[in-house]
Amino acid sequence: MAQAIGGAILGTRVDLHENPVMLRGFDGARGQYNASKILGGMQDIYTRQHGIGDYILIVAGKDLYIPGGRDFVFGLARPSVRAGIVSTTRLDNRYYRRKADMYDTIDRVVKEGTHEFCHMLGLDHCRNGECIMFCPTTLDELDRKRKTLCPACQRKLDAAKRYF
Ligand SMILES: [Zn+2]
Ligand SMILES: [Zn+2]
Repeated sequence: MAQAIGGAILGTRVDLHENPVMLRGFDGARGQYNASKILGGMQDIYTRQHGIGDYILIVAGKDLYIPGGRDFVFGLARPSVRAGIVSTTRLDNRYYRRKADMYDTIDRVVKEGTHEFCHMLGLDHCRNGECIMFCPTTLDELDRKRKTLCPACQRKLDAAKRYF
């Protein structure tokens, strides 16, 4: 699955590892994780303590929110520290009491994982509802996206990749 996350779409190699870092930012009252705090923790541990400069995307079954921002997010990225996270919680049909389908979940993780990777590479949101860089607020909007970038975003990605 990880090879599929972005690998083919980004045109680069993606390695899969277990994440050894405990995720910060659990809010017991909400039953959700503060996505900003998770990225802050990744910055402290991967970047500051270990000097790791790779682009790192965590895929976790933890529901995410941004304080003072959105009640939930599918994912979040911080380009300055090359860190991103995707939550599988709301990418799973069972969250919406629909029939479980692993392939639906994988499809969505590929879309949102690639979306966050592209943020890390400096791409912003796109208004084209079929583009990976469209920012979905519902599962239907997410499912309407294709697993490709629109021509304009593809050009931005190609330009950004020269600095990989
Ligand atoms: Zn986004
Ligand atoms: Zn686009």
